[in-house]
Amino acid sequence: MLAEYLQTPIEYLKGVGPNRAELLRKELSINTFQDLLNLFPNRYIDRTKYYKINQLEQSSADVQIIGTIVSFDLIDQRGGKRLVAKFKDDSGTMEMVWFRGHKWIRQSLKLNIPYVAFGKAKWFNGKYSIVHPEMELLDEHEKSLRSAMQPIYPSTERLTNRGVSNRVISTIMQNLFIESKGDFRETFSDKILNDLKLLSKKDALFNIHFPKNQTLLAAAEYRLKFEELFYIQLQLIMKNLIHKTKIKGFTFIKVGDIFNTFYREHLPFDLTSAQKRVLKEIRYDLGSNAQMNRLLQGDVGSGKTIVALMSMFIALDNGFQACIMAPTEILSVQHYNNIIEYCKHLNISIKLLTGSTNTSERTKIHKSLENGELNILVGTHALLEDKVKFKNLGLAIIDEQHRFGVAQRSKLWHKNTSPPHVLIMTATPIPRTLAMSVYGDLDVSVIDELPAGRKPVKTVHRYDKNRLKVFRFIKDEILKGRQVYIVYPLIKESETMDYKDLMDGYASIEREFPKPEYQISIVHGQMKSADKDFEMQRFIKGETQIMVATTVIEVGVDVPNASVMIIESAERFGLSQLHQLRGRVGRGAEQSYCILMTGHKLSNDAKTRIETMVRTNDGFEIAEVDLKLRGPGDLMGTQQSGVLNLKIANLIKDKDILSQARFYAKQLLKADPKLSQPNNKAILTTYIQLGKYKNIWNYIG
Ligand code: ADP
Ligand code: MG
Repeated sequence: MLAEYLQTPIEYLKGVGPNRAELLRKELSINTFQDLLNLFPNRYIDRTKYYKINQLEQSSADVQIIGTIVSFDLIDQRGGKRLVAKFKDDSGTMEMVWFRGHKWIRQSLKLNIPYVAFGKAKWFNGKYSIVHPEMELLDEHEKSLRSAMQPIYPSTERLTNRGVSNRVISTIMQNLFIESKGDFRETFSDKILNDLKLLSKKDALFNIHFPKNQTLLAAAEYRLKFEELFYIQLQLIMKNLIHKTKIKGFTFIKVGDIFNTFYREHLPFDLTSAQKRVLKEIRYDLGSNAQMNRLLQGDVGSGKTIVALMSMFIALDNGFQACIMAPTEILSVQHYNNIIEYCKHLNISIKLLTGSTNTSERTKIHKSLENGELNILVGTHALLEDKVKFKNLGLAIIDEQHRFGVAQRSKLWHKNTSPPHVLIMTATPIPRTLAMSVYGDLDVSVIDELPAGRKPVKTVHRYDKNRLKVFRFIKDEILKGRQVYIVYPLIKESETMDYKDLMDGYASIEREFPKPEYQISIVHGQMKSADKDFEMQRFIKGETQIMVATTVIEVGVDVPNASVMIIESAERFGLSQLHQLRGRVGRGAEQSYCILMTGHKLSNDAKTRIETMVRTNDGFEIAEVDLKLRGPGDLMGTQQSGVLNLKIANLIKDKDILSQARFYAKQLLKADPKLSQPNNKAILTTYIQLGKYKNIWNYIG
């Protein structure tokens, strides 16, 4: 079947027409035959099984019952009327209920003739009823071609209300198969089909919509999931390859004086072997003639900063400039201070540029950037402003990528004649499956080892009513010379309330920890940045023992002497946020603690989050749980969720298929980078079509 045929607007399919087409477009984004074909069922129900009314249970999901309608009643109720049919079989009676379409239903349904009723049976007012059931004459039901496993398609309330029921969708799907004779083009090569023993495209599509049996259904699902994931991977890997061949990067041929001097004389600790490995990977990229586009993942505290800095040294050694960009002012100030400290014995010019840099300083920075006097620029989004022009930016480092959009990533490119090498660092561990799908076009390095001597943070859960014990514990720790964070939620939707909670909390902590014995810092989003900075600095210098804050301290803040992290209303935080916050402690040699405070009532999800935090310190494990709880779209933010708009595969359940798809896509491109071999023609055609008809698969971004 020709691809063009499948692009026919859906209204031209038998049984659709303009009105239903409009509904299908609006409700399910079905524009073409192809879209309909790719409307995969959510689940299947066994249509050979019939229930008796006295077998129904409160938990019965979709059931079908054979019986007759013995009477109709139109009953007044608040907000309109409902039509109730008394429905009877030889075991009892129940009700079929309609809130809309009374006239039409009353006319089309006949009394005292056997029907098959289908729908969700609910226990209501002392009897079972089905609201808006599908009713089919038993006679016709038996004649229909439908398979024993009835697919249940995605639907919306509006579709059901307008009469586009699951049965209607099944029927138009049948029409599509009849009209096209089910002759759908194969999208894989024989080799892949044989190697993986995949069902043909034709058989897979038939069996996903009209399964002949469980085995064929499973094979159909597998084939279609593999296909979906395969073509995403093919796209991403292709993008990466094209990038590597087309986009020439600067070649940093040498590792020179700055790098070597620092490494030999000023590096304050031994690098972990993970840090060394990652540096090697980066050096390799920088030395090749392709532009680097690398994601560096490393759990909080794994030591990404030093890797970033030493990578920048390589750029400097080759006569280029480098920059590092962080999402917040506090973070960029901290990077700046760290870098200044590391570089104090080196002759390097380093400047900080943020929103609060004053005009005269700004002008100086612009000038020294353009004439090349400035070597390293550290800052926030301010780096992206048009006025910021580098003489020769060789390497751009972006910390905490998830806060920046992909668009901003590419904006950095346009600061040069040639794009700089780009290193993106993130402490939010991304489950491998997700990384493969979202960042599949990037190369990935992972620091999977913490510096030696770190003690894992001990995490406990405490209820609010035990607060006094917690306060006592804090006092003991302070007595030992440690510092403490107390973090409050501040969530946009309930900002005023949260702000009040924070202030109340602060007041009670001031009472509990009186001056002059105790000194307290407070930092929150409504403060001026100079004040924030002042309070932060007092804590960093050890002048205050307690830091009361909102999540502004979430990322990156580094005070090794802080050993206790108290998280108030911990049930309100997401898992990755909790993990980030916990990462603020455990950075020194002392045993550190994270105490999650909650009220007594916890939702199931909140319980899972807290239990996960108490159980493990492993960021990747936490990310997996987070992915399960929240789903991929949420996890990545809306910007990337489009990529994850999968039709049949599921990144959590199908991660093995994903790995397999990636493996095969890689192998294929290795053997035939341009897909020019005759036996890969089907794949090439599909690949081109994916680009051409973007609406076919909306994950093409
Ligand atoms: P993150 O990966 O969270 O950004 P940082 O780069 O801030 O981590 O490093 C966390 C802390 O660990 C810093 O205080 C840093 O000086 C220290 N550190 C980094 N690498 C090592 C190492 N190899 N040995 C000992 N300490 C290290
Ligand atoms: Mg960091």
